[in-house]
Amino acid sequence: MVSTMGFLASLGHSKFFHIIGLPLNALLTPQRRGAILNPMDFENEEAETFGLGKISEMTMKNRYDLLTCVECGRCTEVCPANLSGKSLDPKTIITKARDFAFSVQEQGKDDGDFWEDSPLYQANELDACTTCGACMEECPANIEHVNIIMEAKRYKTLTLGEIPPSAADTINKIKNNGNPWGISQDDRFKWAEGLDIPLIEQGKKVDYLYYVGCAGSYDAANQKVVQDTVMLLKKAGVQFAVLGKTEKCNGDPIRRFGDEYSFFEVAIENIANLNQYQFDKVVTHCPHCLHTIGKEYAQFEDGQFETIHHTELLSELIEAGKLTPQKEINEKLTFHDPCYLGRHHGEYNAPRKILNAIKGIEIKEMEANKDKALCCGMGGGNMWYELPEGEHIAKNRLRQIGDKKVEKLATGCSYCMINFNSTKAQVNETENIEVEDVASILAKSMD
Ligand code: SF4
Ligand code: SF4
Ligand code: SF4
Repeated sequence: MVSTMGFLASLGHSKFFHIIGLPLNALLTPQRRGAILNPMDFENEEAETFGLGKISEMTMKNRYDLLTCVECGRCTEVCPANLSGKSLDPKTIITKARDFAFSVQEQGKDDGDFWEDSPLYQANELDACTTCGACMEECPANIEHVNIIMEAKRYKTLTLGEIPPSAADTINKIKNNGNPWGISQDDRFKWAEGLDIPLIEQGKKVDYLYYVGCAGSYDAANQKVVQDTVMLLKKAGVQFAVLGKTEKCNGDPIRRFGDEYSFFEVAIENIANLNQYQFDKVVTHCPHCLHTIGKEYAQFEDGQFETIHHTELLSELIEAGKLTPQKEINEKLTFHDPCYLGRHHGEYNAPRKILNAIKGIEIKEMEANKDKALCCGMGGGNMWYELPEGEHIAKNRLRQIGDKKVEKLATGCSYCMINFNSTKAQVNETENIEVEDVASILAKSMD
């Protein structure tokens, strides 16, 4: 077996490695890079640590990533955390590990521990990553920063037990109450009072299971999005149902905090709940639910569910003539592409198709749109803790929004909605902007 260091040596410790390494790394890179976190093996009784602790624990892809970095700095230039003054620098996430690996090799050692003596990564660096994927989108060498950051974060959380106190509190709330705010499970279906919403029943198949999500269930602005979405689905004659009070958080924040063991427990319970029912697709209006249920549950037994974002479904319904916007809405707005809908799911057109189908709407695109969109800062668990360094990540995006001089910001993400509503007053130009989900704008244009 080739040792860790032998492997690096066999690839060549040379500043020219990237010339042959770049095409090889492109072959090893999945289409949507690093967004899907891998499950961990908790059944390995010999494992003393969890997460990325040593060089020998890096995957082949991680090692190519270290060796192919050309130090262009493009990842750092687009990193929302770095731009907001946080200590996270995606370029140095890669180069520090590479330099450490080579120094260990030069000392003739078989392996190197990232955390012994002086840790390679600090908590503030890892916790600041929103997993937005902008670094990976921009990197000419197909490097997957998020994979390395998240594996190191898992080590920090699971092996060192270091986690922001409010993140630990959020995990407990999700495990005890089924939602990150710790609100009673009994209140989860209150948004539907008086609306005659179909509950899913065993043995009665539906086309769509609408997974409302925690924000949709408990946050007032997002409850409105759910109410508008169900109105549109009913109007279009879509056969759908919801889980009601038995729906629980899908576990996305827990996984991004690095607590894979708790995520595993939550995911297994949700998969069992979903498997009691028959449906063709799960529709979600939160892109984080879309990602976790659609792409990450698939890694577990019986966890294969086809998912669709509500903007994709609504856009299909317009195209099929089942929904026809009637009323003119004379508004100039800009659209914020949520990272987990855009970069991680590849959907940029559906929300724009809906907006363009409404007479009177004028979309004023930000320069940083679609795959170049700047994250609002809530992903990666950042919704549930606030790091002391720099400024709020949302502020840079709000400045870009403010530059468009529009009265409305449209989006399609529960987290983005909560975040922009709570931070818009921090930037003068967006103080009075209205934040609205695409579904709610469409609902207003219906008779
Ligand atoms: S995923 Fe986003 S926040 Fe994390 S390092 Fe990359 S650009 Fe920065
Ligand atoms: S963009 Fe890629 S190649 Fe350039 S510095 Fe970042 S990791 Fe290295
Ligand atoms: S909250 Fe929205 S912008 Fe922020 S990481 Fe999630 S999808 Fe991206």
